[in-house]
Amino acid sequence: MAARIGGTAKTNQTGELAAVILALTRLDNFRPIHFKTDSEYVKKGLTERFQTWEDNGWIKMSNKDLFKKALDLLRRRSAPTWFEWVKGHSGDPGNEGADELADQGAHDDAPTDLDLSIKPEWNLTGAKLSTLTQAIAYHGIRERASQDKRTGPQTQLNLARDALEAFTGHLETDPSLWKGITHQDIRRPIRTFLFRAYHNSYKLGDFWAKIQDYEKARCEACNDPAESLAHILFECEAEPQNIIWKLAKELWPHGDETWPHLSMGIILACGNLEVRKPRNGREVEEEQENKRDPGATRLLKIIISESAHLIWRLRCERRIGGRTHTATSITRRWHQAINDRLVTDQIAARNIIRTESNYRNVEDTWKGTLKDERFLPFEWAKAKEVLVGIVPPRPPI
Ligand SMILES: [Zn+2]
Repeated sequence: MAARIGGTAKTNQTGELAAVILALTRLDNFRPIHFKTDSEYVKKGLTERFQTWEDNGWIKMSNKDLFKKALDLLRRRSAPTWFEWVKGHSGDPGNEGADELADQGAHDDAPTDLDLSIKPEWNLTGAKLSTLTQAIAYHGIRERASQDKRTGPQTQLNLARDALEAFTGHLETDPSLWKGITHQDIRRPIRTFLFRAYHNSYKLGDFWAKIQDYEKARCEACNDPAESLAHILFECEAEPQNIIWKLAKELWPHGDETWPHLSMGIILACGNLEVRKPRNGREVEEEQENKRDPGATRLLKIIISESAHLIWRLRCERRIGGRTHTATSITRRWHQAINDRLVTDQIAARNIIRTESNYRNVEDTWKGTLKDERFLPFEWAKAKEVLVGIVPPRPPI
């Protein structure tokens, strides 16, 4: 049987490898396969160079997980396998079923849905000392060290996953949670904030507790014995969290049942939050899920991420900058933070992303939050002369 990979779709290394893995996973081990690939690197890698790479412990290799998995699958095969290099877009008809597999593989930018686990006896780790150069060994040490650092945030990932599942009913994978941090609706400084929160790298009370002979620092504001990010964001009575979360919920126009139970996990997972449309009384099949509400989903990501980040910023201003905040100034700052997002959206819609779908997106996001909304002209996001703002918060008591 012939399996032609690549050619029509994006012909990068990752795509080609993903296609090989996908094909090998789905086709019988005892039937011969003829792969045609337009990646010389993939062909040579799987037929010749892998020996050297294995000897060097896969150090400095991009796509090493994919190469290792492909080799593992190839070694399990009991029938002959050929690799042939073909020129890209050579018009070779190939095998339709395999083409489809190749397309699936090649369109996957990050093929996270591929099972990359390897039989333990084939998963060679470490490098052969006889063939290892000093330079490669050095890179190997650096790779190991950076891997170890990544095991730290596992607790936080689980926290985020659990909170998200309770809210959306979906279990997210680690890669999709990491991806959520850099979601386009999360502003850059907040991405950094979330990244550091995942790695527990802010020097709070629980940070000092990890260091020997260092006493856990108490919360300076309320003298609580355990200062943590969760304490600052949700518990500390001396922090502005009470006021800010109240304002956030007051602005939320989609009802209590779509507002998450706030926790550290929800903050960490704010880029993955999702709101579904309510059922409108019509007959719906039990199993069927409600439709995703893109506007509400986007607004929730904005409100939650901006509010959490503002609480943190105000805390830093007070602890490091020595500033004090009154209830009125906290309220004003929060209103400004959310309003800035609305203004940014409006400016982008008028000047940068002038597409119908973006006008809809902006209008859907802010629906129900705007001041004098019923007096706004139809399609306000398009109209140059219209100034919008969110409903001003009620003055604090
Ligand atoms: Zn406190």
